[in-house]
Amino acid sequence: MISSVLPTYNRAPLAFVRGAGSWLETADGTRYLDLGAGIAVNALGHAAPELVETLTQQAGKLWHVSNLYQIPEQQALADMLVEKTFADTVFFTNSGTEAAELAFKMARKYHYAKGHPERVEFIAFEGAFHGRSTAAIAASGSEKMVKGFGPLMPGFHQVPFGDLDAVKALVGDTTAAIILEPIQGEGGIRPAPDAFLKALRELCDETGTLLIFDEVQCGMGRTGRLFAHEWAGVTPDIMMVAKGIGGGFPLGAVLATENAASGMVAGTHGSTYGGNPLGCAVGARVMQIVSDPAFLAAVNAKGGFLRQKLEGLVAAHLDIFEGVRGQGLMLGLKCKVAPTDVVAAAYDQHLLTVPAADNVLRLLPALDISDADMAEAVARLDAAATALEPKQA
Ligand SMILES: *Cc1c(COP(=O)(O)O)cnc(C)c1O
Repeated sequence: MISSVLPTYNRAPLAFVRGAGSWLETADGTRYLDLGAGIAVNALGHAAPELVETLTQQAGKLWHVSNLYQIPEQQALADMLVEKTFADTVFFTNSGTEAAELAFKMARKYHYAKGHPERVEFIAFEGAFHGRSTAAIAASGSEKMVKGFGPLMPGFHQVPFGDLDAVKALVGDTTAAIILEPIQGEGGIRPAPDAFLKALRELCDETGTLLIFDEVQCGMGRTGRLFAHEWAGVTPDIMMVAKGIGGGFPLGAVLATENAASGMVAGTHGSTYGGNPLGCAVGARVMQIVSDPAFLAAVNAKGGFLRQKLEGLVAAHLDIFEGVRGQGLMLGLKCKVAPTDVVAAAYDQHLLTVPAADNVLRLLPALDISDADMAEAVARLDAAATALEPKQA
């Protein structure tokens, strides 16, 4: 008999009843060290006091009003994002998938409004993940996400990640935009080289193509910059944000330049819940904390600390691990065994990690995780790897 919750997830037999910082607790009081952070969502850990304060204060005042009215909390968060990024304008959503939908619509509408209705195609990359709407699965092209769901939304093409020649061969006068994650998350913590991002920007400028960055996972301080593309010094025309921006409250956004957003006039897009006062109040508090240069410097230092410890772990378990990759606190351990086996062995050590494609184990801790908790996590990974090693004769 089907479970009352639609069985689209292979869930671990673990249920948590409370959390604090980087720790989660089950009903019987067992504590788990969380290096997944709800897949890069709990940017400030669980039950961060500042966010609890903001959320409860706002909850006592106003949760929801329609976008038919001014929403000062939404305005304040948009102003902060515009001030701190390339963007001139922001639309709020409740998820990354909804942000992807608007990014695609905005790109097509841009060309339509400029007199080029034929520019409707998107170039995306193998290993990409942009969400699970019909357009987002067409963009990723991944077999397990598209198979059986009928005709794919037309206009999406995939080329190998990092393959500039393949992009150049495909880009043409029907291309609307190129979309990519500056660091692929689900694809296995695969960073796009800076030179590749620069070359894509140049190609887009030459051909009048829009560049869309999906920073749903790698953005909001995760890599030690507010947004990952800042490392390469390359800005997009449109950017998708979600996950970390709400610190655990469902919130997403599309950021865009004035030019890229020029087709989106009144009546062309909307959302009932997007930009509600409760979510935006929390998002503004997250932004205030995460965009502080001192906070971002600390993320860099923590990332360096964890990476160094992980290099040591790899050297100690060369039959289990192959290497470390990623940036800041978006790190991947390339495995020689199935990463799901490492995740399971880590559960035995009461440590939470996340598998990804390309045989990678993802480590996406809270951005304010302590050095002591990182050291403890690596000790637990060490024990997990030891348990997986073939017994010596
Ligand atoms: C998680 C994710 C999405 C989808 O976000 P949802 O909030 O799950 O809809 C899109 N792009 C990237 C890069 C992601 O990591």
